[in-house]
Amino acid sequence: MTFDDRRFDHFFLNPSADSISSYKAAIADATEILIQHFALANQAYSGLLPQQCKFPEPGFDLCPEEGTPLSDVLQQVGAMVIQHSANVSHPTCIAHLHCPTLVPSLAAELLISATNQSMDSWDQSPAATFLEQRVIESLCQLFGFDHQADGVFTSGGTQSNFMGMLLARDRYAQKHFRWSIQEQGLPPQASQFRILCSDVAHFTIRQAAALLGLGQQAVVPVATDADYRLSPHHLEQQIIALKQEGLLPIAIVATAGTTDFGSIDPLTDVAQLAKAYDLWLHVDAAYGGALIMSDTYRHLLHGIAAADSLTIDFHKLFYQPISCGAFLIKERTHFDLLKLHADYLNPETNEDLGILDLVVKSVQTTRRFDALKLFISMQCLGRKTFADMIETTINTARETASLLKADDVFELANIPTINAVVFRYIPQTQHSSLALVSFSNQINQSIRLALMQKGQAIIAQTQIGAFIYLKFTLLNPRTTVVHTKSLLEDIRTIGQDLEATLLLSAG
Ligand SMILES: *Cc1c(COP(=O)(O)O)cnc(C)c1O
Repeated sequence: MTFDDRRFDHFFLNPSADSISSYKAAIADATEILIQHFALANQAYSGLLPQQCKFPEPGFDLCPEEGTPLSDVLQQVGAMVIQHSANVSHPTCIAHLHCPTLVPSLAAELLISATNQSMDSWDQSPAATFLEQRVIESLCQLFGFDHQADGVFTSGGTQSNFMGMLLARDRYAQKHFRWSIQEQGLPPQASQFRILCSDVAHFTIRQAAALLGLGQQAVVPVATDADYRLSPHHLEQQIIALKQEGLLPIAIVATAGTTDFGSIDPLTDVAQLAKAYDLWLHVDAAYGGALIMSDTYRHLLHGIAAADSLTIDFHKLFYQPISCGAFLIKERTHFDLLKLHADYLNPETNEDLGILDLVVKSVQTTRRFDALKLFISMQCLGRKTFADMIETTINTARETASLLKADDVFELANIPTINAVVFRYIPQTQHSSLALVSFSNQINQSIRLALMQKGQAIIAQTQIGAFIYLKFTLLNPRTTVVHTKSLLEDIRTIGQDLEATLLLSAG
């Protein structure tokens, strides 16, 4: 090795001319691949079947002895992987809460990854720590919390819900048994802890209860009304019944935007019950939180500021690249329940020096600077543009629901509160050897697969009772009723063809 070793210059971003030119070329190459194989694609999906998705071939050499030029590797990845991706920006890629990404956020991602700040300790993210904290404070205000509130960016709703249940559990043990779960592990009473949520709440509430040592048994589903909203009456009855059984309700989870129906629980009523029974109130607004941007729909979130903790996802209706979520709490001192100090990372003496190490508020250590992309896109678009996008999607969902309602071939499952539309193709024929439910289920399932295999659309399925339903999640403001109408026509045709084939083969 010579004193002036430049062998690795072009592999890293640095002041050398080699580095700058190789960086620019790499980004230009990647951009070209992206445009060619993704942006210009005019289908939701290439149509590749699961059996055909086999790049790289088994036995491939992950790290060959000698490397290949980046442009060649990118070409191969473009043709084999990018081209066969779910095209999230396509108007008929409408299966899940899986959004198209804003261009300003894609630019932000370049900055986030290249600067590679880590949000755990201030010395790894000096300006970034400050910006994330400011963004969190603004989000707290946006949702109506006061200056006692605080929060942290997370990897998404799963982590935010986990943190909400963690704080609810630990606060309950501390308050009622002077017991520190962080220090002592679960108290003897933990098997009696109960969490109440609606029967259409997200599965990650059960997952969190399981991971937190309470078991899925701790989650008590409460009946919903005809619009899939938590019924306050049933909720109160359930709380009383649990107490009579000697069980210990610790928290209520209200959902603002259920994943299947977009339904929003009656937050004000639920908050009153949480207060009356001294229960932690967690609001899972992963999906519906975005309505806060809209003058027309903000009222649906009325009461959200009563939450002790709140989940919001930005990689859904805020159009951020994955991952981007936040966890907010009304009373910042509750973060003390999970605070830990590591001598090498965030020594307690840092606090005396006024140094903010965000690791004390997170269950992650190394953590991305995802706040930056939200900041950049909010500054760029402005509130009105976000509101316009969200309102546009809601209108499209409502118009699509009207089409379904007026059509005898379809059964509409919900009047969309946000932009998820759930429906079923109703078989028009019957056959004695095929039970009604399984015939319908078989056809609806096959419709979804047929659309994906043609690459025409990616739609979802879900189940209500015994029936399988189809779902459009209309997050993309570029999806119009022209797209959904034509897709419904295709679904009708596919359904009719399938019926004919199935009846033939059933003899
Ligand atoms: C998406 C979603 C989650 C899970 O969030 P991830 O970001 O996927 O981890 C939780 N709750 C609701 C209501 C959701 O829609």
